[in-house]
Amino acid sequence: MEDKAEQARPAADTDESAKARKPAKAKKPPRPPRQAIPEQSPRRRTHNFEEVPKGYAPQIAMVEASRCLGCKKPLCVLGCPVNIDIPAFVSLVAEGKFVEAALKLNEETALPAVCGRVCPQESQCEKVCVLGKKFEPVAIGRLERFAADYARTYGNIPQAELPEPTGKKVAVIGAGPAGITVAGDLARLGHKVVIYEALHLPGGVLMYGIPEFRLPKHIVQYEINNLKKLNVELHTDYVIGKTETVDQLIADQGFDAVFIGAGAGLPMFLDIPGENAIGVYSANEFLTRINLMKAYDFPRYATSPIRAKHVITVGGGNVAMDSARCALRLGAKSTVVYRRAREQMPARIEEIHHAEEEGVVFNFLTNPVRVITNDRNCAAGMECLRMKLGEPDDSGRRRPVAIEGSNFTIEADVVVVAIGNKPNPLIPQTSPDLKITRWGTIAVDEKTMATDREGVFAGGDIVSGAATVISAMGQGKIAAKSIDYYLRTGQLPQPQPEPQPEPEAEAEPEAGDQQQAAESQ
Ligand code: FAD
Repeated sequence: MEDKAEQARPAADTDESAKARKPAKAKKPPRPPRQAIPEQSPRRRTHNFEEVPKGYAPQIAMVEASRCLGCKKPLCVLGCPVNIDIPAFVSLVAEGKFVEAALKLNEETALPAVCGRVCPQESQCEKVCVLGKKFEPVAIGRLERFAADYARTYGNIPQAELPEPTGKKVAVIGAGPAGITVAGDLARLGHKVVIYEALHLPGGVLMYGIPEFRLPKHIVQYEINNLKKLNVELHTDYVIGKTETVDQLIADQGFDAVFIGAGAGLPMFLDIPGENAIGVYSANEFLTRINLMKAYDFPRYATSPIRAKHVITVGGGNVAMDSARCALRLGAKSTVVYRRAREQMPARIEEIHHAEEEGVVFNFLTNPVRVITNDRNCAAGMECLRMKLGEPDDSGRRRPVAIEGSNFTIEADVVVVAIGNKPNPLIPQTSPDLKITRWGTIAVDEKTMATDREGVFAGGDIVSGAATVISAMGQGKIAAKSIDYYLRTGQLPQPQPEPQPEPEAEAEPEAGDQQQAAESQ
């Protein structure tokens, strides 16, 4: 036995020494986890309107950007409605070339600092990020925000030279994301652009809807100022359909083309008893008073403040989350009433998470039945019914079904209705030649954004119904290309066959990669 053991030992030693002689394969350092973004604490931020996430520091942005696999056929670009070259800008951030990264972004988007903050990346570019198959996706939105903020603060980017004027004039109705995109793209091609905006400030929902703590207004203003450098003319307090009609823009003012980007600013209501009581607001009015007219900053701004002890917000989208979080910052208790379940909320995940952290109370599977009023016709509460989920409806989501006899009441002195918006009918009513859909939106050919009226194009929420900033910008880009073609040739562009997306991305996350820490979103 001993002999055998003795004989076996040298053989084993030889194996080990051979292993030892073989050069060890250098272990790749683990890929870093998705980098968290610093935020104001929930306790502090509910007392101010300052921005909640503070943005990456340069070193952290470089670490986050280094996580990108640099796929040769990047799915993230296809996931972006304006097809930003994401791997290119991310790799510039990884190399520390921050201004160059911002310039790369500017090739496709007029509003990078805005989109980096409010785009639903989790359902677009980040959703298809290949790294996200095994780990957390690259934080594309946070990197976009970082590059745009860096260039705005330190970049001193020179103004690109404008081409010779073409002599063509385009009217843009509405200074929201769709109108801003069209105006910028056409001005860069040498066309004269005049924007007509109904409100006293440009920016659309970015100014009047999305609160300061999610999107600081000086950032929107900066990105709009870039338009002025392109010689775009802006007329505010100018309501097309009242001050002047679309027909008059063409016949009397001699515009060669018109783009309608008037958004979907008409609020929908619940149609329940008590809804006309004092203290019941549409989310549009509530948010406009707070964001555009600074009702939280009385007496510096003359808008009368909204005073409330308990605000109920009805709805489950971004608009509802913004309203509920504003209510907290006005010093009220804030409750959301939503008729479906949490998983079915259409709001961005980050907004729901922030609202929960800040102490907004959620009543899921709850539907309002009536607003309770006092003897002065002021809101005093809400009667609600409990719901359960039934079969899927047309949207594919399970339909909420009332549980009979489950009525209960919640006391509140302000109710905010945030259940959706539709297009304002003013332009359709005063432009009889425009084809309108049964949803009140303007009908267009989606390949060109041309309406059935020659020389008139439309895009953004007035076409798609309430949607997203980036989809409005995407439609604006298509419209700008078509308008340019129309101005040069008198024709509409013929759509090219679409390139088929390649489903396979080449790079794969490596087996050794570690996702080390769960980040706080
Ligand atoms: P708008 O932004 O509505 O701009 C239209 C402009 O046209 C307005 O300035 C309006 O005053 C002007 N106008 C209207 N009628 C006339 C007229 N007759 N004459 C002249 N001017 C006129 N999307 C996201 O992607 N992420 C988010 O987090 C998000 N949060 C949101 C929060 C709120 C509170 C709201 C209301 C919307 C949110 N959205 C969000 C949706 C997004 O803001 C819109 O989809 C987007 O702004 C649509 O752009 P638009 O240019 O089509 O219209």
